Amino acid sequence: MLCEMCGKEVESTVRTKVEGTVLRLCPDCSKFGEILDPPPTPAATAASAARARPPVAGATRPAGGGRRLEERDLYTDIGEMELAPDWPKRIRVAREKLAWTPEVLGKKLNEKKSVVLKLESGGIRPSDALVRKIEHLLQVRLRADPETIGGA
Ligand SMILES: [Zn+2]
Repeated sequence: MLCEMCGKEVESTVRTKVEGTVLRLCPDCSKFGEILDPPPTPAATAASAARARPPVAGATRPAGGGRRLEERDLYTDIGEMELAPDWPKRIRVAREKLAWTPEVLGKKLNEKKSVVLKLESGGIRPSDALVRKIEHLLQVRLRADPETIGGA
């Protein structure tokens, strides 16, 4: 077969529309026009697929950092409760009575082991919410109410 543009002898031609005229062209010359019956080559398929997919803009991003805020609230929320002077020791004694490691207590409180250790050393004061949580978990009184403290 002969290419109608360059006259080259080729194995097969493709019908190509060039400036309104349909010509039978070799693969090289068909690039200059609009191919009417392109052979199904992987390259052509990939090209049309890429053309069919418009670029996606404005992808949504998942919001994060919620947990972090909760943690910070715990420390900025300075409790109003009056705690017993030895509340850090009470936490440690009660925890050891239950044979819980600081990790175990931390997990139950949804806190890190380091937080538990800081509490037990009096390094940080628990918020009122955390006081209630600890009291409930360890069955211990951290508040200074004299009525519930037996003996002296
Ligand atoms: Zn040609």
